[in-house]
Amino acid sequence: MITEITAKTILNHVKQPDPWFGLKYNMNLYRGCQHQCIYCDSRSDCYRTGNFAEIRVKVNALDLLEDILPRKRIRGTIGFGSMNDPYMPVEREWRMTGSALEIIAHHEFPIHILTKSDLVLRDLDLIKEISGVYAAVSFTITTADDDLARKLEPGAPLPSARFEAMRCLAEAGILTGVTMMPVLPFLEDSEENIRKIISLASDSGAVYIIPSFGVSLRPGSREYYYSKLDQIFPGVKLKYINFYGDQYQCSVPNWRELETQFLEDVKPAGISSKMPVYKPEKSPGKLTQIPLFESDPVGLD
Ligand code: SF4
Repeated sequence: MITEITAKTILNHVKQPDPWFGLKYNMNLYRGCQHQCIYCDSRSDCYRTGNFAEIRVKVNALDLLEDILPRKRIRGTIGFGSMNDPYMPVEREWRMTGSALEIIAHHEFPIHILTKSDLVLRDLDLIKEISGVYAAVSFTITTADDDLARKLEPGAPLPSARFEAMRCLAEAGILTGVTMMPVLPFLEDSEENIRKIISLASDSGAVYIIPSFGVSLRPGSREYYYSKLDQIFPGVKLKYINFYGDQYQCSVPNWRELETQFLEDVKPAGISSKMPVYKPEKSPGKLTQIPLFESDPVGLD
């Protein structure tokens, strides 16, 4: 089900510094996510997302963005994809992400798109234009196995499609790589899986792979995840309960060995475990005049 809502603000500030993704701002044009990954943290009660399967489109988001961007004094990277995927199926019709990119290109801000979808290729020309300032596209890939991904990420394009999209972006000269997170305990934490992801990423032109060997589980996301484990992987929930109890951070049991192996394997592949990020700076001079009596203090960041 898709409903329309209005938002009060559209650009959230990211706690600085953000060495992992280099974000200064975060933007969510939708609420809820059609990809329905069973481990998704956005289902956690603390975010008050409501029914996560119900997609809400922030219909005034583009007006808000057009209004706020010229008033930002700091030019820093705008992140897409923190609470939902900016290229989930609803984007085909609504094109909120594509339209936001047009506005961002006009105002010359840098971007970092995080997605699981090859639909991002539709906006390749805009991303290319923005890459004159800075543009990165990260594909979240936690397994190289399409069959496993069908179970874990039932609404998302398969990892093979994501690697193919990565290759297209790399060939077009766009900075691209993998966010390998979360690596799920007892399901994805094999050396073989990590090696396969590195090998496919390397073949696809990835510049970086940012790993997280574990998953975070909070009230709301934990219950959903466990109910899906019971349906799809009988017996695995018990392993989580015995190993982690109520822990928020659930690192894979062999994370030290996996991390060591990962760091050894990425080097010869010419892949970094960190992405090159854009350093925030003063906005370009062409931005519009800030009114003397500004009622909204957000322009001061
Ligand atoms: S794509 Fe991201 S936001 Fe969407 S369900 Fe999956 S993990 Fe959650």
